[in-house]
Amino acid sequence: MRDVYDAIIIGAGPAGCAAARTLAKAGLSVGLFDKASFPRDKTCGDALIPDAYHALEKLGLIERVLDISCPLHGMRLFGFDGSDVLVRADSACVPRLKLDELLLNSAIEAGIEFLPGHEFVGLFDEDEKIYRTEFYRGGSVVTARARWVLLATGASVEPIQRAGLLLRAECRSFAVRQYVRNERLAKDFNELVFAFDPAVKGGYGWIFPGPDAIFNIGVGFFGSAHKYNNPRRSYEKFVAKHPLAQNLMRDGEIMSPLKGAPLRTGLSGTRFARGGLLGIGECIGATFPLTGEGIGKAMETGILAAEAIIAEYDPGRAAVAQAYTDSMKALQPKFEVYRKAEFLFNWPYLTNKLVAHAIKSESTRGKVEGLFNETSDPGFLLTLSGWMRMLFANR
Ligand SMILES: Cc1cc2nc3c(=O)[nH]c(=O)nc-3n(C[C@H](O)[C@H](O)[C@H](O)COP(=O)(O)OP(=O)(O)OC[C@H]3O[C@@H](n4cnc5c(N)ncnc54)[C@H](O)[C@@H]3O)c2cc1C
Repeated sequence: MRDVYDAIIIGAGPAGCAAARTLAKAGLSVGLFDKASFPRDKTCGDALIPDAYHALEKLGLIERVLDISCPLHGMRLFGFDGSDVLVRADSACVPRLKLDELLLNSAIEAGIEFLPGHEFVGLFDEDEKIYRTEFYRGGSVVTARARWVLLATGASVEPIQRAGLLLRAECRSFAVRQYVRNERLAKDFNELVFAFDPAVKGGYGWIFPGPDAIFNIGVGFFGSAHKYNNPRRSYEKFVAKHPLAQNLMRDGEIMSPLKGAPLRTGLSGTRFARGGLLGIGECIGATFPLTGEGIGKAMETGILAAEAIIAEYDPGRAAVAQAYTDSMKALQPKFEVYRKAEFLFNWPYLTNKLVAHAIKSESTRGKVEGLFNETSDPGFLLTLSGWMRMLFANR
């Protein structure tokens, strides 16, 4: 371990690794710390959507990731009434165990120093330029210093609080997933399946086909829905009743226990930066409400933080914090629309109309595709005129 790094990054998930690779490629010395030893699993749906593709392209890693993924045609959305529509968008599924290992190795190749088994416990401003960070390692406290610190510890509240970035403790969402192998159905599944389903009140169920005929199946709850639902029971109902899931489970081999984790969504509830400390990825809520997808935005925020440091290294902390905060504020309106659109989980009638209209109308399907591809304004989900058109057209 060095005496002083240019940057210390805490957390080696997609956010931390993307930032680490970007900073190291620009010639900065980087210490990447994680409490876990790698490869380590992360409870996730494992789906990559267009924003993840963009970030991986920027990192120069898209080919390598696709080599270990199951590439898919797009996303199939099921309404509560069982009707479905295909949304074309770049999409793939790759187990986090493998994705995160690849991302970490790509940061190590770029020259970072990886320090596993270090649990972050404290951050102190030593002077106006240097931070002292403290980690538990094997029962004792280890200290490391850096000019910049990036917090990338994901959804757990404690590290965000310890770093002084927390404004609100609540995690807005919760999801559970299980791995199931089914050789018979593997060749028939070429899409990420998102299913609005009566078994999952206030959320949705998913079936994501990964490599080696292993499916990631799960249910997620958004807003306050997780407080009023038993995720295990909802999952059991979903796999028992949804026709695709039922078929998969019939002769599928269970590969893992059902595991759950919270999600911090909505890009709110934390400060983005404090002096030379920047929060990136899910710890600042960079996971989308409504869909729960966050791998892409974790990498994107990691890259944006690294770019702010590289561009404003000499002017210093205030300039970096401002540039990074501005880039997060630019993302906020989209997160706000997604958050408001969570009403769809509780309005089956409207959700079914949206799917029905997307089946019939190229233009509506284009808007839904634009939503996932981030090429059109998702605000159409919230306008009265947009809903009137859909309701009227389907009569
Ligand atoms: C069930 C479920 C399904 C999901 N499905 C999808 C999906 O299909 N697609 C998608 O895009 N997103 C999905 N998400 C969201 C996605 O998992 C997150 O958005 C993403 O992992 C965030 O990346 P990150 O790098 O910010 O944090 P993480 O991936 O959580 O990485 C944080 C890292 O920090 C380390 N760490 C934590 N605390 C400390 C500490 N005190 N000291 C040191 N290290 C620490 C952890 O060990 C970990 O390695 C899902 C989430 C859940 C819970």
